[in-house]
Amino acid sequence: MADPMPKAQVNQIASTVSVVSAVSFPNAATAAGIGVENLAVVPAEGTVQAATPNLLAAPKTIIVSRASRAGERSVLPGCSGIPTTTGASNGQLPESSLCTLWDSDHRLRADAAVSLAKLNIAYKQEFGNDICLTDSYRTLSEQYAVRASKPTLSAVPGTSEHGWGLAVDLCDGVNTGTGARFQWLADNASSYGWENPDWAKSGGGGPYEPWHWEYAAGQ
Ligand SMILES: [Zn+2]
Repeated sequence: MADPMPKAQVNQIASTVSVVSAVSFPNAATAAGIGVENLAVVPAEGTVQAATPNLLAAPKTIIVSRASRAGERSVLPGCSGIPTTTGASNGQLPESSLCTLWDSDHRLRADAAVSLAKLNIAYKQEFGNDICLTDSYRTLSEQYAVRASKPTLSAVPGTSEHGWGLAVDLCDGVNTGTGARFQWLADNASSYGWENPDWAKSGGGGPYEPWHWEYAAGQ
Protein backbone atom coordinates (compact mmCIF):
# COMPACT_ATOMS: atom_id res chain seq x y z
CA MET A 1 0.00 0.00 0.00
CA ALA A 2 1.31 3.44 -0.84
CA ASP A 3 2.40 5.75 1.89
CA PRO A 4 -0.12 8.45 2.80
CA MET A 5 0.62 11.93 1.60
CA PRO A 6 2.80 14.07 3.85
CA LYS A 7 0.73 15.64 6.59
CA ALA A 8 1.38 19.22 5.50
CA GLN A 9 0.14 18.45 2.01
CA VAL A 10 -3.01 16.80 3.28
CA ASN A 11 -3.83 19.81 5.39
CA GLN A 12 -3.30 22.12 2.48
CA ILE A 13 -5.78 20.18 0.35
CA ALA A 14 -8.29 19.93 3.11
CA SER A 15 -8.34 23.66 3.76
CA THR A 16 -8.81 24.34 0.06
CA VAL A 17 -11.78 22.00 -0.16
CA SER A 18 -13.39 23.57 2.85
CA VAL A 19 -13.71 27.03 1.32
CA VAL A 20 -14.11 26.38 -2.40
CA SER A 21 -17.03 24.52 -3.88
CA ALA A 22 -16.26 21.70 -6.27
CA VAL A 23 -18.84 23.07 -8.67
CA SER A 24 -17.42 25.70 -10.96
CA PHE A 25 -19.54 28.81 -11.20
CA PRO A 26 -20.06 28.92 -15.00
CA ASN A 27 -21.10 25.28 -15.13
CA ALA A 28 -23.46 25.58 -12.22
CA ALA A 29 -25.10 28.66 -13.68
CA THR A 30 -25.51 27.10 -17.11
CA ALA A 31 -26.66 23.68 -16.02
CA ALA A 32 -29.24 24.95 -13.58
CA GLY A 33 -30.53 27.67 -15.83
CA ILE A 34 -29.90 30.43 -13.37
CA GLY A 35 -28.45 33.83 -14.01
CA VAL A 36 -26.06 36.07 -12.23
CA GLU A 37 -28.96 38.15 -11.02
CA ASN A 38 -30.02 35.33 -8.75
CA LEU A 39 -26.64 35.03 -7.23
CA ALA A 40 -26.61 38.75 -6.68
CA VAL A 41 -29.76 38.65 -4.55
CA VAL A 42 -28.52 35.81 -2.39
CA PRO A 43 -27.30 37.49 0.78
CA ALA A 44 -23.83 36.04 0.53
CA GLU A 45 -22.49 37.02 3.91
CA GLY A 46 -25.80 36.47 5.63
CA THR A 47 -26.09 32.97 4.22
CA VAL A 48 -22.65 32.02 5.33
CA GLN A 49 -23.18 33.67 8.66
CA ALA A 50 -26.28 31.63 9.36
CA ALA A 51 -24.86 28.34 8.20
CA THR A 52 -21.27 28.50 9.38
CA PRO A 53 -20.49 31.20 11.91
CA ASN A 54 -16.90 30.00 12.16
CA LEU A 55 -16.23 31.27 8.65
CA LEU A 56 -16.96 34.86 9.62
CA ALA A 57 -13.30 35.41 10.29
CA ALA A 58 -12.39 34.32 6.76
CA PRO A 59 -11.38 37.01 4.30
CA LYS A 60 -14.35 38.58 2.56
CA THR A 61 -13.12 37.57 -0.87
CA ILE A 62 -13.31 33.92 0.12
CA ILE A 63 -16.82 34.28 1.48
CA VAL A 64 -18.00 35.92 -1.72
CA SER A 65 -16.29 33.26 -3.79
CA ARG A 66 -17.88 30.50 -1.80
CA ALA A 67 -21.35 31.99 -2.06
CA SER A 68 -21.17 32.67 -5.77
CA ARG A 69 -19.81 29.23 -6.57
CA ALA A 70 -22.07 27.23 -4.29
CA GLY A 71 -25.38 28.19 -5.86
CA GLU A 72 -26.94 24.87 -4.91
CA ARG A 73 -25.99 25.19 -1.27
CA SER A 74 -26.69 28.86 -0.76
CA VAL A 75 -30.36 28.64 -1.74
CA LEU A 76 -31.18 25.56 0.38
CA PRO A 77 -28.50 24.77 2.92
CA GLY A 78 -28.06 21.04 3.33
CA CYS A 79 -29.70 20.16 0.01
CA SER A 80 -27.42 18.64 -2.60
CA GLY A 81 -29.72 19.46 -5.51
CA ILE A 82 -28.96 16.01 -6.90
CA PRO A 83 -31.89 13.58 -7.37
CA THR A 84 -31.36 10.21 -5.74
CA THR A 85 -34.70 8.47 -6.17
CA THR A 86 -33.72 5.74 -8.62
CA GLY A 87 -35.81 2.65 -7.99
CA ALA A 88 -38.19 4.36 -5.58
CA SER A 89 -41.96 4.19 -6.07
CA ASN A 90 -44.38 7.08 -6.38
CA GLY A 91 -45.28 8.33 -2.93
CA GLN A 92 -42.62 6.16 -1.31
CA LEU A 93 -39.51 8.20 -1.83
CA PRO A 94 -36.75 7.74 0.73
CA GLU A 95 -36.56 10.56 3.27
CA SER A 96 -32.94 11.11 2.32
CA SER A 97 -33.90 12.02 -1.25
CA LEU A 98 -36.18 14.86 -0.17
CA CYS A 99 -35.19 18.42 0.65
CA THR A 100 -37.18 20.71 2.91
CA LEU A 101 -38.14 24.07 1.46
CA TRP A 102 -37.79 27.53 2.99
CA ASP A 103 -40.90 27.17 5.11
CA SER A 104 -39.33 24.24 7.00
CA ASP A 105 -42.41 22.20 6.17
CA HIS A 106 -42.89 21.28 2.52
CA ARG A 107 -40.53 18.88 0.78
CA LEU A 108 -39.51 18.11 -2.80
CA ARG A 109 -37.00 15.94 -4.61
CA ALA A 110 -33.59 17.55 -4.29
CA ASP A 111 -33.29 18.95 -7.81
CA ALA A 112 -36.84 20.27 -7.81
CA ALA A 113 -36.32 21.80 -4.37
CA VAL A 114 -33.21 23.71 -5.39
CA SER A 115 -34.79 24.93 -8.61
CA LEU A 116 -37.90 26.11 -6.80
CA ALA A 117 -35.76 27.81 -4.17
CA LYS A 118 -33.98 29.72 -6.93
CA LEU A 119 -37.31 30.68 -8.45
CA ASN A 120 -38.45 31.77 -5.00
CA ILE A 121 -35.48 34.11 -4.65
CA ALA A 122 -36.49 35.90 -7.84
CA TYR A 123 -40.16 35.83 -6.80
CA LYS A 124 -39.34 37.32 -3.42
CA GLN A 125 -37.32 40.03 -5.05
CA GLU A 126 -40.37 40.88 -7.16
CA PHE A 127 -43.13 40.62 -4.55
CA GLY A 128 -41.38 40.87 -1.20
CA ASN A 129 -42.61 37.53 0.10
CA ASP A 130 -41.95 33.86 -0.44
CA ILE A 131 -43.96 31.71 -2.84
CA CYS A 132 -47.00 30.51 -0.91
CA LEU A 133 -47.18 26.71 -0.68
CA THR A 134 -50.16 24.56 0.25
CA ASP A 135 -48.85 21.19 -0.93
CA SER A 136 -45.69 19.55 -2.22
CA TYR A 137 -44.45 15.97 -1.91
CA ARG A 138 -47.24 13.60 -0.96
CA THR A 139 -46.79 10.13 0.38
CA LEU A 140 -48.95 7.42 -1.12
CA SER A 141 -51.24 7.43 1.89
CA GLU A 142 -51.59 11.21 1.71
CA GLN A 143 -52.48 10.90 -1.97
CA TYR A 144 -55.18 8.36 -1.11
CA ALA A 145 -56.59 10.82 1.42
CA VAL A 146 -56.62 13.68 -1.10
CA ARG A 147 -58.23 11.42 -3.70
CA ALA A 148 -60.96 10.50 -1.26
CA SER A 149 -61.75 14.11 -0.38
CA LYS A 150 -61.33 15.66 -3.86
CA PRO A 151 -61.84 12.85 -6.38
CA THR A 152 -62.18 15.15 -9.39
CA LEU A 153 -59.22 17.34 -8.48
CA SER A 154 -56.58 14.79 -7.67
CA ALA A 155 -54.64 12.15 -9.51
CA VAL A 156 -55.11 8.43 -9.10
CA PRO A 157 -52.83 7.41 -6.22
CA GLY A 158 -49.48 6.30 -7.54
CA THR A 159 -49.58 8.59 -10.58
CA SER A 160 -49.37 12.12 -9.15
CA GLU A 161 -46.28 14.22 -9.71
CA HIS A 162 -46.69 15.13 -6.03
CA GLY A 163 -45.72 11.53 -5.32
CA TRP A 164 -42.45 12.03 -7.16
CA GLY A 165 -41.70 15.18 -5.20
CA LEU A 166 -41.96 17.17 -8.44
CA ALA A 167 -45.12 19.22 -7.91
CA VAL A 168 -46.35 22.01 -5.67
CA ASP A 169 -49.72 23.62 -5.13
CA LEU A 170 -49.53 27.38 -4.68
CA CYS A 171 -51.61 30.01 -2.92
CA ASP A 172 -51.57 33.79 -2.34
CA GLY A 173 -53.58 34.43 -5.49
CA VAL A 174 -51.65 32.11 -7.80
CA ASN A 175 -54.43 29.62 -7.19
CA THR A 176 -56.90 31.95 -8.95
CA GLY A 177 -55.07 31.77 -12.25
CA THR A 178 -55.09 35.56 -12.50
CA GLY A 179 -53.24 38.49 -11.01
CA ALA A 180 -49.65 39.65 -10.86
CA ARG A 181 -48.25 36.62 -9.05
CA PHE A 182 -49.75 34.05 -11.40
CA GLN A 183 -48.71 36.06 -14.43
CA TRP A 184 -45.17 36.51 -13.14
CA LEU A 185 -44.84 32.77 -12.59
CA ALA A 186 -46.30 32.08 -16.02
CA ASP A 187 -43.64 34.35 -17.47
CA ASN A 188 -40.67 33.26 -15.38
CA ALA A 189 -41.09 29.79 -13.86
CA SER A 190 -40.11 27.97 -17.04
CA SER A 191 -36.64 29.48 -16.81
CA TYR A 192 -36.26 27.40 -13.67
CA GLY A 193 -37.87 24.28 -15.12
CA TRP A 194 -41.28 24.84 -13.53
CA GLU A 195 -44.63 25.08 -15.29
CA ASN A 196 -48.36 25.04 -14.81
CA PRO A 197 -48.83 22.00 -17.09
CA ASP A 198 -51.07 22.15 -20.13
CA TRP A 199 -53.59 19.70 -18.70
CA ALA A 200 -54.12 22.04 -15.72
CA LYS A 201 -54.82 25.09 -17.85
CA SER A 202 -58.30 26.26 -18.76
CA GLY A 203 -59.58 23.96 -21.49
CA GLY A 204 -56.44 21.87 -21.16
CA GLY A 205 -58.09 18.48 -20.97
CA GLY A 206 -57.73 17.97 -17.24
CA PRO A 207 -59.12 19.64 -14.17
CA TYR A 208 -58.46 23.39 -14.12
CA GLU A 209 -55.71 23.74 -11.52
CA PRO A 210 -53.87 27.05 -11.82
CA TRP A 211 -52.34 26.36 -8.41
CA HIS A 212 -50.62 23.17 -9.56
CA TRP A 213 -47.03 23.60 -10.80
CA GLU A 214 -44.64 20.87 -11.82
CA TYR A 215 -40.91 20.59 -12.20
CA ALA A 216 -41.02 19.60 -15.86
CA ALA A 217 -37.25 19.67 -16.14
CA GLY A 218 -37.05 16.69 -13.78
CA GLN A 219 -39.72 14.47 -15.32
ZN1 LIG B 1 -51.14 19.69 -7.23
